[in-house]
This record gives sequence, C-alpha cells and structure tokens, in this order.
Amino acid sequence: RRTLVWFRRDLRCFDHAALYQALRHSKEVICVFIFDQNILKHLPANDRRVRFIHDSIIELEQEISKLGGSLLVIHGDPVTEIPRLAEQLQVNAVFANRDYEPAALQRDTAVKTALGKQQCEFLSYKDQVIFEKSEVLSQAGTPFSVFTPYKNAWLKKFYAEGSDFYAKSYPVEKYAANFYRLDVPAIPSLSDIGFAAAQTQTIPLQAGMSGGTQLIQDFLARMKHYDVARDFPALKGPSYLSVHLRFGTVSIRHLVREAMQQIRTSSNHGAEIWLAELIWRDFYFMILHHHPHVAERSFKPDYDAIQWETGEQADAHFAAWCEGNTGYPLVDAAMRQLNQTGYMHNRLRMVTACFLIKDLGIDWRRGESYFAEKLNDFDLSANNGGWQWASSSGCDAQPYFRIFNPITQSEKFDADGKFIARYLPQLARLDKRSIHAPWKAAPLLLQQAGVSLGKDYPYPIVEHDEARKKTLERYAVVKKAG
Ligand code: FAD
Repeated sequence: RRTLVWFRRDLRCFDHAALYQALRHSKEVICVFIFDQNILKHLPANDRRVRFIHDSIIELEQEISKLGGSLLVIHGDPVTEIPRLAEQLQVNAVFANRDYEPAALQRDTAVKTALGKQQCEFLSYKDQVIFEKSEVLSQAGTPFSVFTPYKNAWLKKFYAEGSDFYAKSYPVEKYAANFYRLDVPAIPSLSDIGFAAAQTQTIPLQAGMSGGTQLIQDFLARMKHYDVARDFPALKGPSYLSVHLRFGTVSIRHLVREAMQQIRTSSNHGAEIWLAELIWRDFYFMILHHHPHVAERSFKPDYDAIQWETGEQADAHFAAWCEGNTGYPLVDAAMRQLNQTGYMHNRLRMVTACFLIKDLGIDWRRGESYFAEKLNDFDLSANNGGWQWASSSGCDAQPYFRIFNPITQSEKFDADGKFIARYLPQLARLDKRSIHAPWKAAPLLLQQAGVSLGKDYPYPIVEHDEARKKTLERYAVVKKAG
C-alpha cells in the first residue's frame, strides 16, 4: 500500500501524528508540501512568514531525505494538486494533520471529495493541540466558554490517564523503513513562487525544527521565571515559540511534556503558568470549532450593535495606530516592534488592542486584520480570541468597562522605559518619568533630552480620559449583556 503525507502547518518529521500513522500502516510513504497559491496570492512580496515556511521546508526536505524519504514541494492549488498527485503516484490514501480554520476545513472537504471520486481515502489526525473539538466538555456535556473551568477540566482529563498519555510522542523513526524515495524536482525558490527574501532581523527568527529546538533549549532554563518575567516587554520573559507552534516546527506534545516535567520535579510556578498559556491555545481552537461565527462576528451577539467610529478621522487614527504614531509611547513602541519584527509581546498585544478599540473607538476587526497581516505567529483562533477579549465581545473577555490606561500600563510594565527606548530611540534620552507621556514633561526637560514634540514625536492623537467616557457611552448598548 502506497500513501501520501500532506504537510501543512506541521513542518517537522518527528513526533508527527499523520506521518507516524502513514508509516505504520503502509509500505511506501511519500511526502508532499504545497505552497498554496490561494493563500500566497494575498500576501505582500516580503511576507516574513513565507520566508519562515520556505526555510523550514528546505530543512524538512533534508531531514526527510536523511530518514530515507522524499519531500515533493510544489506551488499550486491543493484542491487540484493533491488528487492529481494521488492519481499520478498511485496512492490509496492521503494522510494529513487536522487544521481547524474555516478556510482550511473547506479546502480539506473539497480535497476529500475529489479523492473519494478516485477511490482514494483522506485520513486526518489530531496533532496541533492536546485536546480538540469536544474532547473537553463541562459535566453537562456542553462546550466551555470560560477559561478557568475549561483549564481545570483539561488538566483533569490529562492527569486521569497518567504519565503524559495525551502528550506521548509519535515515534516516526520507528517505521522509517517505510519511507519511499522518489526522484523529486528542486524546491521552488522564493522568487519562483513570487516572493522576496524578507528582512527577519531584530528578533532573530531562526526557522525550521532546528530553530524551534534552539528556542526550546533557551527557554527551558527560564521557564521557572516565566510567571514573573512574562509581563515585562523589556525582559526576555516569554518563550518566543509562537511562530514555531504556528507552523508546527515544534511539537505541542513535547512542550507540554517539558512543562509537566518541571511542574513535577520542582513544583515550579513558572511552568504552571506557561502550561496554562498552552491550554489557552487549545481553548481558542475549541471556541473556533464550536462557534465558527467568531471569525466574522462577536462571540456575544449583543456586541454587534456597537457603533464604531468611521470616516476620515477614524481612518487617520487607524493609520496612526498602525504606524506607531499615536503619541502614546508604549502603544507606538509596540506597533513598531510588530512592524519591524512581526512579533509583539503579549502584554503589548493587549495594550495596543485595547487602545485601538477603547481609546480610538475603532472596530476590533480592523485591528484583528492588521495583526493577521503582520504577525509571524498569526493564528486565527488565538488572534480572534485576543481581539474579542480586548473588545469585551468574546468569551471570558475583559469586562467592557475595564479600559487600560496606556500611561499607567507603561509605568507599570516598562517602568524604566527600556522597551520604549528600544523602538522609539528619539525618546531614549527622556527620564524614566517623562518617557511614558512626553507631552506632560516640562519644556526644559524635553529640550535637554533633544525631543521636539510634533516634530520628532507626535502629540497624543486623543485624550485618554475623554476617550474613556466616549467608550462607556458607546458600550451602553451592551450594558445589559455584561
Ligand atoms: P509565551 O508566553 O511563551 O506562550 C507560549 C505559547 O502559548 C505561545 O507561543 C502561544 O502558542 C500560547 N499562548 C500564549 N498566550 C496565549 C493566548 N492568550 N491565547 C492563545 N495562545 C496563547 N497568539 C498567537 O499564537 N497568534 C496570534 O495571532 C495571536 N494574536 C493575539 C492577539 C491579541 C490581541 C492578543 C491579546 C493575543 C494574541 N496572541 C496570539 C496570544 C499571545 O499574545 C501570543 O501567543 C504570545 O505573545 C506569543 O509569544 P510567545 O510564544 O513568546 O508566548
């Protein structure tokens, strides 16, 4: 029996559910990756993620080759390419790991239907989460919409099986003899598929399984401090693994095993908190599965009645937010981090999202789309979850009357202004009190620091207290919804 393993957002050849199952059940396994023209045609030529994927594919091809197999890499439409390959290579089944996004589900249904007509099976596996769909339900048998009880049920189910059963690795190497070596053409270059090699400096973004492994090694020693360090963007607190989780160059099961190991051996609070973040990731995938409408509308329907700012001024405010020119240094530094590196610290994602929605009164969907375009780790479920949290329209969201003060957030989480100075060097010479709100500083202080407001750095585009009042009025329509 000959089979095809179709790689998508799982660019590794270890601990890989679909690859393992294919190797176990067939004698000749061929691997394929398709640069999906339907996705790529919407992206700019310097998209960092395409570069990341491309680098990861080069490494994946080499590693599969070392195991005795081949990775066929093509550029096209999977809905026609997968059935065409299945026929040409005479395979009886196509194996893939499940993808939960609405567009991916549609694509997979179309592929499955086409394969069915050729008497070829399409088999899909859970791989990118620990628990999917309805695996974690409330006692009443319904999906959770609040995180903490979900997390508790998740942990209960995980521990019930003991010894990391749900995080066990799929030992691909055990059946490596069943890889099939095929003569494959060279991997198309970035320019072959219409892209330029994007700039990926600032946050060194090493792609592939090796990049993921390096980051894991680096983070393991820091995991115990995660609970404390994770909230301060100037510190190296988080793992920076999100892009690797997004493209599957690391295994979620491996990460959970590492966290569990630290929890067991040193009752390590940092590891517990980090594990909870990985559970948030499962949570949002589960929400998207049960409530696919969130991709377009509010989780809580009443919130769709909110009237957002529109028109010229709103457009100008939105542009200032995107460019990091709002006059609020923490917000601007964060947006510049995003624009320059494709990464943004979690605390700052919350601050900038809240600022767009509750200081500028702009529809969260506009911010969600901007993040989707810029984030290396963009994932529909987590991004949507984060934005609906900030707009208060989501499940388990921030209450609508909780409105971050961008200055207080700055004083609290970047007290010395180090993060601000990194991305707004023109403010670096301001003292640590003035850097959070330069327009409040004495003219002499500004002069000494070489800052000319309105020239080197903008005045604030809105006044926070006024904006706050407006937001409470705007949200009055949902008051009863809570
Ligand atoms: P760590 O702090 O090291 O966390 C480890 C992993 O846990 C992350 O890599 C991620 O996979 C997961 N995780 C952490 N926090 C969350 C969370 N709140 N929700 C879901 N998973 C989480 N995360 C994305 O992966 N893709 C997105 O598109 C995305 N958009 C966001 C938008 C907004 C408005 C907000 C508030 C959050 C968003 N997040 C998103 C969640 C979070 O900010 C990032 O996962 C995190 O900053 C990535 O950095 P890290 O890998 O260093 O995280």
